[in-house]
Amino acid sequence: MNVTEIFGSNVFNDEVMKNLLPKEVYNSLKRTINEGEPIDTNIASAVANAMKDWAVSKGATHYTHWFQPLTNLTAEKHDSFIEPSGDKVIMQLTGKSLIVGEPDASSFPSGGTRMTSAARGYTAWDPTSPAFVKEHTLCIPTVFVSYTGETLDKKAPLLKSMTALDTQAKRLLKLFGIECRKVSTTVGPEQEYFLIDEDVYLQRKDLQLTGRTLFGAVSSRGQELEDHYFGALKGRVAEFMRDLDETLWRFGIYAKTEHNEVAPAQHELAPIFSTTNVAVDDNQLTMELMKKVAKKHHLVCLLHEKPFEGVNGSGKHNNWSLSTDTGLNLLDPGEYPERNTRFMLILACVLAAVDDYQGILRACVASAGNDHRLGANEAPPAIVSAYLGDQLGAIVDSIVLGKEYVPKRAVPGSIGVPESPIFPIDMTDRNRTSPFAFTGNKFEFRMLGSQASVADPNIVLNTIAAQKFSEAVDELSGAKDFEKACKDYTEKLLKKHYRIVFNYNGYGPDWEAEAERRGLLNSKTTADAVPEFFKKENIDVFVKQGVYTEKEVIARANIQLENYIKTINIEALTMIEMARQDIYPSVNGYIAEICSVIAAKRAVSERMSCKADVSLAEELSRLNEAFAKAVNKLEKDLNLPAGEQAASQKIAHTVVPDMEEVRRLSDCMEKLCSSDYWPYPTYTDLLYSVR
Ligand code: ADP
Ligand code: MG
Repeated sequence: MNVTEIFGSNVFNDEVMKNLLPKEVYNSLKRTINEGEPIDTNIASAVANAMKDWAVSKGATHYTHWFQPLTNLTAEKHDSFIEPSGDKVIMQLTGKSLIVGEPDASSFPSGGTRMTSAARGYTAWDPTSPAFVKEHTLCIPTVFVSYTGETLDKKAPLLKSMTALDTQAKRLLKLFGIECRKVSTTVGPEQEYFLIDEDVYLQRKDLQLTGRTLFGAVSSRGQELEDHYFGALKGRVAEFMRDLDETLWRFGIYAKTEHNEVAPAQHELAPIFSTTNVAVDDNQLTMELMKKVAKKHHLVCLLHEKPFEGVNGSGKHNNWSLSTDTGLNLLDPGEYPERNTRFMLILACVLAAVDDYQGILRACVASAGNDHRLGANEAPPAIVSAYLGDQLGAIVDSIVLGKEYVPKRAVPGSIGVPESPIFPIDMTDRNRTSPFAFTGNKFEFRMLGSQASVADPNIVLNTIAAQKFSEAVDELSGAKDFEKACKDYTEKLLKKHYRIVFNYNGYGPDWEAEAERRGLLNSKTTADAVPEFFKKENIDVFVKQGVYTEKEVIARANIQLENYIKTINIEALTMIEMARQDIYPSVNGYIAEICSVIAAKRAVSERMSCKADVSLAEELSRLNEAFAKAVNKLEKDLNLPAGEQAASQKIAHTVVPDMEEVRRLSDCMEKLCSSDYWPYPTYTDLLYSVR
């Protein structure tokens, strides 16, 4: 495989545009892409035609407006390029078809922003993310809005949040005498996933219908030997990864790092970062292609946050930074951060944002799947805090607590083997337990679930950072002694928001109590986290920064709750079905067999011992009775009150505990039941059958 040749071959990228578009059209389009100038509709026909010719040369017969409704997935409706021409057809894409589409919006979630009768929705071309050819179809990235202008997708608010951040960051930089055309946020999302064999997957209704195992006693071997993390790849996994890399590279996605993760059958893929909008699109495409490539290898890629109990779940690390078009990374502390007034101010603004808006940072990553991870000693806790590392931690401590700051510098280190090279030791250690960790020149937001769209946390991060930048500018512009005013303001912010800094073990037992003492939020379920969006100050920040209207914030929060309710409802119904149709009768079958063994033994000889058989049959019978009862209770509790908030509360605090009890009983029985009778592949089959 010639990587440099295939890279980006499915993408209508800069090089292709330069080759195919007339110069003035190309230049006009680039101004839109790079500087955010509104698109000149006069150039649309020329771009559409070039795009169509290029796509047809790649084997495309159809085009689609590719968009991201509020489902975490992407949506596409295909139209062919054909137009009648006499007896024949020609292939055509008009400028109008490139710029707007009109899919029926009525079957997408809108959270009440759109009445069912007003079904009309529009998709509008987003020229800042490149079009690509996938499965004979030209995919044109678009935003999706309703007839009345409310956004119905994740891309429109993401672009708005990027604009807000650009505007406010430029104002802030101007105070420091720095002029630039654009400040963009950059994101590198690390993606975790599981790979399992397709045959075993097809024998598990729960995996097929819900993406996770609803039952399953843990395997005798889990992750305790710590032998999977970074372990050598198994043959089929290595082949899958090679195929995946090649596929992603063709789509211009910078797949870079791949390795085994902590849990058996768990892996990770990290791309090189790009601008947020592109990173979001690329991650959506990556998730889709992972599943498709896995299928080719008779594997199934599970993106659920918690496919298996007892071993780690999967998340997505959102590495986030800001940089100017001139290449300045605003989160780069430089060699002397303590003297870097600009960096320290930006850091203080980011910490203030994370503290003031911790509720919505937590809420934006809340989902039924992610509830299994946050706070479960494998992902950061449900409490938002920021980790700064040794160097920045010490600088902030010196400002807030008046402690003396002993400058820490990167020192040449060596691993102690004479032949090994000397290398500078990093200034920040890794802290895997922090939800929001400073890692050298970026923050890593680690609370995101593995199947979530990367758009959500970035909409929030960009918006709240923009807000704090704008407050800083309002405070500092016109200051007589700017340097002093800036330092004072930085100190004020750091002192006010110091409680959000936590440089220790976030998994530790003391942190929850300490966080409570500091007044930090700790919402453990989606039902408790999402209502943060309804608070006035949280709605205001979106409205002020022009990202959402009040109605949109409320609609989205309601959709999030609705999604949570529906997801758990599906899980509960699947559970009831599996329990009644498969598990309960199977256990009874085994009990019947034991009983006939007892009867047979007794018929032959009074002296044959039946003690073990009797106690096993009794135990299984007792458990199965309790199981049937627990299933009935679960079914009854699925009668939910009206309204998203009330229903989600009942789901979180009644239905989920019911499901845990049903599972607990089943898992006890699985351990006692003969494998001839157990109706499903076990955890050992699921986690260890790929060679
Ligand atoms: P780790 O988290 O394991 O230390 P890396 O430091 O290699 O890994 O980076 C993880 C991710 O962060 C990668 O996707 C990388 O491209 C991304 N990243 C690096 N620099 C930036 C940046 N300035 N902005 C956003 N993401 C970045
Ligand atoms: Mg990382």
